[in-house]
This record gives sequence, C-alpha cells and structure tokens, in this order.
Amino acid sequence: MVEMMNVEKYYDNGLKALEHVAVQIDQGEFVYLVGSSGAGKSTLAKLLYREEEATNGHIEVGHFNVTKMHPRQIPMLRRFVGVVYQDFKLLPRLTIYENIAYAMEVIGKRPREIKRRVSEVLELVNLSSKAKMFPNEISGGEQQRVAIARAIVNTPGILIADEPTGNLDPETSMEIMNLLETINHQGTTVIMATHNNHIVNSRPHRVIQIENGMIVRDQERGAYAYDN
Ligand code: ADP
Repeated sequence: MVEMMNVEKYYDNGLKALEHVAVQIDQGEFVYLVGSSGAGKSTLAKLLYREEEATNGHIEVGHFNVTKMHPRQIPMLRRFVGVVYQDFKLLPRLTIYENIAYAMEVIGKRPREIKRRVSEVLELVNLSSKAKMFPNEISGGEQQRVAIARAIVNTPGILIADEPTGNLDPETSMEIMNLLETINHQGTTVIMATHNNHIVNSRPHRVIQIENGMIVRDQERGAYAYDN
C-alpha cells in the first residue's frame, strides 16, 4: 500500500528533513508516526500525497509511483489519499454539508450520488443534525469530524491524519480516535502523525518513530514514552 525506499528530502534552503527513510505499510494497517517536533513527521506525510517531492529515493502509494508520476496524475493520487490536518482547514463560508459535498463536486460526481454519500458520511461522524450549520457554529471536535468526513467522502485507500488531535482536549481526542479506528476497521489504511503519548499508549497500533529525519524505531503495537 505504501512503500518508501531510501528516501531523502532536502528543502530548498538546504535543510535535510529526511534521510535513509525506508517504510512499508500494508493495506488496512493503522500506523502512528511519532517523534519530537521538527523530527520530520509532516514531511514524510506530505511526500505521500505529493505536497512535497522527495529529493531522492522511491515512493509508491497504492498503484501510484509517486516519485515518477507526471504532475497531471497528482489529482488522481489525491483522491486515493485523504488528508486531515491539526487545524481542520474547513471552508468558513460553506455549511458542514457543503464542505463535504465540495470534495465530490470538484471531481465531477453526480448530484444524486453526492447527496447519498454525504448523508452517509455525516451519519458516520454523527453530525447529520448539524449539516446546515457553519464551521464557526460547532465545536473543535465537531469541526475535526467534518474534516474527517470530507477526507473519506471519496472513499480513499489511505487516510493521513497530521496531528488530528493537536488542538483538542483529551476527551474529544478519544472521540476522534474512535472515529479513525472505525474508518480503519472499514478497510482504510490510517497513518496518523502525533506526539500525544497518551493516545499512542492507550490505543496500541504500529509505531514508527522519526528523530532528526531518520526512522529510529518501527514496532508493532509499540508504546511511546516521549514526554511532551
Ligand atoms: P514534524 O512534523 O515532525 O514536526 P516537519 O516535517 O514539519 O517535522 O519538519 C522537519 C524539518 O524540516 C524541520 O527542521 C523543519 O523546520 C523543516 N521544514 C519543514 N518544512 C519546511 C519548509 N517548507 N522549508 C524548509 N524547512 C522546512
């Protein structure tokens, strides 16, 4: 599902953000990417949906050869990889329903299918009753659930969540974890960057730890003792 071989990333200012990165992730896995701030977690995530390009090495995501693909193919890759951010990134002038529907409209889905699927994902994230509200009228946890609904509405093979609980209190964070685990159980591969050791320790999954741009640990159902 994801394969990274000998990946290096230098930013334009010469900073080496990743080196010798080799990772293999199978379909249906739930993987935490952990590590200190600045370790390279976001950079690794961004390489997978071609927000950033690897300087060297080889990356495959699903059937996409990400390191060799033509820029014309990037929109196809982005349909296969749903992304959720720490700060939600909802469109403030669109309702909850419209925020989610928009992700289907831009890829030309038919109105009837949009209506059916958006209702389905609103139900999954338990927000059907708030469909007509705007992002600033709902809580942070609810906004993150909308962002997750938007990320999965086109049934991606992979969901990448970059610090999805970074702005949320512990209880709300657990609700988000429940939702991500439900989505994972439905077959979507989940890759979640976090430095929340409480979550990692209480919801065990595979842990890949990055420090200074290098993978220093890759462990099935690992714990995470890093103290934030
Ligand atoms: P993390 O997600 O683990 O906090 P990042 O992947 O964001 O780490 O950053 C890894 C390193 O790359 C850091 O030193 C950061 O300052 C640097 N970096 C991130 N984005 C850029 C960029 N666009 N230009 C230059 N350096 C960057």
